[in-house]
Amino acid sequence: MTIGKHVSLWLDNSDELSFDSLNRDIEVDVIVVGGGIAGLSIATLLKKEGLNVCVLEARRIGHYITSSSTAKLSYTSTLIYSHIISTFGKEFGLKFKEAYFNGFNKIKDIIDDLNIDCDLREVSFYILSEDETKNGILDNELDALNELDIPGKIVNNVPYPFENVGRALVHENQLELNPIKYLHGLSRYVDGDGSFIFENSRVLNVENLEEFKIAKTKNGIIKGKNIVIATNTPIYDPDSVYKHLNQNKSHSLGLLLKKNIKDMFVVFNPFHTLRSTPTRKGEMSIILGEHHSIEDPTNRFEFYKNLRRFSDDLLDVESFEYFYSGGDNLTEDRLSIIGETSEKGTYLTTGFNSWGMNTGMVSGIIIKDLILGKSSNYLDIFSPLRFKNKKYKIENERIEKFKNMNIEYTDSITKTILEMNNDESRIINCELGILAIYKDNDSNTYVLNGKCSHKGCILHWDNVEKIWECPCHGSIFDYKGNVIRAPAIHKLENID
Ligand SMILES: Cc1cc2nc3c(=O)[nH]c(=O)nc-3n(C[C@H](O)[C@H](O)[C@H](O)COP(=O)(O)OP(=O)(O)OC[C@H]3O[C@@H](n4cnc5c(N)ncnc54)[C@H](O)[C@@H]3O)c2cc1C
Repeated sequence: MTIGKHVSLWLDNSDELSFDSLNRDIEVDVIVVGGGIAGLSIATLLKKEGLNVCVLEARRIGHYITSSSTAKLSYTSTLIYSHIISTFGKEFGLKFKEAYFNGFNKIKDIIDDLNIDCDLREVSFYILSEDETKNGILDNELDALNELDIPGKIVNNVPYPFENVGRALVHENQLELNPIKYLHGLSRYVDGDGSFIFENSRVLNVENLEEFKIAKTKNGIIKGKNIVIATNTPIYDPDSVYKHLNQNKSHSLGLLLKKNIKDMFVVFNPFHTLRSTPTRKGEMSIILGEHHSIEDPTNRFEFYKNLRRFSDDLLDVESFEYFYSGGDNLTEDRLSIIGETSEKGTYLTTGFNSWGMNTGMVSGIIIKDLILGKSSNYLDIFSPLRFKNKKYKIENERIEKFKNMNIEYTDSITKTILEMNNDESRIINCELGILAIYKDNDSNTYVLNGKCSHKGCILHWDNVEKIWECPCHGSIFDYKGNVIRAPAIHKLENID
């Protein structure tokens, strides 16, 4: 099966931009931990208000979740407004709408103001189902849009490649962009004049002192009056909001088509999304699907096979150019978590429910206002403190399942390694404890502690990405044990 290069289409079609790693101590007004869409949106708005910021990024700007995003930028996420009205009521819905319209308009203003070349295009955003019996769901969403006075309509003529689908809900004048080019534009603005961006500068520890916050990296310390944790799943979490996050994963293909797609589409049953973008090879389409919970043990190649089959059935494909995967985190109530924690001066943003392009900017607007001492109209909607008295039902079940998995005891690690084929992984239980082993294509073997360095859940293997994933909270490690994704901070112990 040929499905192209295994790299994010955005990373392969954006110029390089890099920043030094931190090698000294600095004092600023605000420390921002994490250089994805959230961290950079927040840093941009703070700098625009005249504050000095320092963004600390563990790896490279935008290189984790944001680089796997399909980057459809809209004031709506799939069928969100009917959920909001039916769960929280109209007044709440109006405030929620205002937050997302403000975020959407702010992004347009910033792209304009900073003159960011990020392949921005205005397109229509179609939401549809290939199953006609689900059409009532579209009507419910339209009712909610009308109640909140949000533009949107149902149409009976859906463009290519869904001409055979009878109905769709359409939002006109939505946006699509290249998220890496966009982040590069924000980064160029943030770095300089007393503000900083440092890459390859993982925050290993956060300290909450009376007057200051301290972020420690291997070779330097940043002192700030405020700290914002924007690491997707928080690495520092005074209110344990991580217990209310579920992790998902989706798979994407970049493909050249004989006939190009012009708009953005979300098919919600079964879930797929489609859009297109200019690349070095010409106009390329991105199809996303095979959505699953991170704990799904399926052979990950199967997801790409299914997606390729789906693409071949739906589209006139000229060539498959890219394949890559990514995951975001989801909250139980479908609302993001944005605001000040119970520790004064410590802010966080997380739980974007696969709608982070706009939510990153919504985070910026809220956190900027709070840091400036202004009130925010949206405090109660997104507050990190809203879970305070809620029981951790999902969390308890998850921990129970993945911390105490029954793994058969093995007498000899050496025998296990000899039995293993090249490019094979195993989790074993032996006298040294639970171990995660990977034998690469050259027969080199990597033996690691098999429990996540965050909360000790037993890891599992993604055979496409060659990574160990935590089924509890979504931390990811490469096969050498280095951290790729938060909330983990520390690498997996190597077992010699
Ligand atoms: C497949 C997929 C498709 C999506 N499509 C869309 C879409 O079409 N539209 C939309 O609106 N949203 C979409 N989303 C959601 C959106 O892309 C995400 O919500 C968003 O990119 C998350 O941004 P982030 O800044 O929170 O995370 P990230 O981009 O992962 O940034 C967090 C950063 O924190 C860094 N970090 C972690 N630990 C530390 C540490 N200890 N010290 C310093 N730095 C650290 C990481 O290295 C990382 O760079 C999609 C998501 C996925 C996965």
